[in-house]
Amino acid sequence: MVILGLAPGAAADGPSDALGAVVHDGAAFPVLDALGNGWVVTTPCRTEVFLGEGTHVERVDVVLDPGHGGPETGSVGPNGIVERDLNLGVAHLTRLGLLDLGYTVAMTRERDLHMGIVQRANIANALSPGAFVSIHHNGGAVRRSSDPGTEAFHQNGDDGSRRLAGLLYEEVHAALSAWDIRWVDTVHQGTSARIRNNGLDVYGILRLTPDLDSAIVEAAYLSNAPEADLLADVEVLQAEADAIVRAIDRFLTSDDPGTGFKQAFVDAVTTGTGTGWNCDDSIYGSSLSHAVGYTEQEYADLVAMAARAGHTPESLQRFGVYALDWFHAMAGRLVLEPLPAEALPVVEGDGVPVAVTGTWSPADQIVLMRVADAYGLSPAEAQKVGAVLMVFLIGIGG
Ligand SMILES: [Zn+2]
Repeated sequence: MVILGLAPGAAADGPSDALGAVVHDGAAFPVLDALGNGWVVTTPCRTEVFLGEGTHVERVDVVLDPGHGGPETGSVGPNGIVERDLNLGVAHLTRLGLLDLGYTVAMTRERDLHMGIVQRANIANALSPGAFVSIHHNGGAVRRSSDPGTEAFHQNGDDGSRRLAGLLYEEVHAALSAWDIRWVDTVHQGTSARIRNNGLDVYGILRLTPDLDSAIVEAAYLSNAPEADLLADVEVLQAEADAIVRAIDRFLTSDDPGTGFKQAFVDAVTTGTGTGWNCDDSIYGSSLSHAVGYTEQEYADLVAMAARAGHTPESLQRFGVYALDWFHAMAGRLVLEPLPAEALPVVEGDGVPVAVTGTWSPADQIVLMRVADAYGLSPAEAQKVGAVLMVFLIGIGG
């Protein structure tokens, strides 16, 4: 299928063409296209929408990813602490520590929301950070240990990622070792790569960010009661966050190698969570409310032509916008001039309003914003030009 309406020179996929991300409503939205008054982005659930608000960020030093969120809880402590929330808390503390050191930082999510792994990786790729760290707390181990069962995972065969993971393991393990409790661990305590038989990383966070230095840290076992109780203490969370800050700072400012390295291990079984299954964030991109005003005569014509075509006036407006988008695409690489002032329709005033709220899908709204951008129109003007066009075309056909 032809991708309609991409402006000449519009970016293809790829890190060198990364367009940054928009931070809005507690999440980062990777940018696919920048239009005059906003951006085409993907939502946490990976729906393409037009976003007309938020703060655009071109790149950052560090992207932090608090693992899980929404219905994907991650592990749950016997004391009721949920990994989803714990990861978020530690990530916020880590962010503050990095900001104190002068780093620019973005988070995949700043609040509790559902977000799949692919989206998290896309956010990191869009922001081209020097380090991408996914923060987790583990579940499952029962083997008694004299020290924390901290694990860090890196991209298989990537020296930078390996060093980042080694520093995360070194700092976090050392920080938590200050507490003498009944720790648990597995044979994977330490720093390693978890791979499939084909050598690819098991974790999408690592596999889908091949151009970044990415790592996952599992600080301790939330599923183990003594560790869960420890993780209920904000002093411990601060110590953990401080350790992650030191690890990232050392990664970015030194050649320190890190520690804890083990052989890569093949795991043909584990399926990561974070599929984003049943993800719903239809709240984004559904706030379109550019009511268009028509004079009595214009409205009568619109209703008549809509009836002739078997549509409502509102849907005729929308078809008109798609027609404009199609014409724009047909114009190919010609430079389209904005319409002259005298050609702009009057869309405000005492006319009959045709509201569009709630009837335009996110995809419809992207088309509308693209048309508005291409022809130098407001969204309301673009709809009216579309409607007038349809009235004209149907009139010809009639
Ligand atoms: Zn987790």
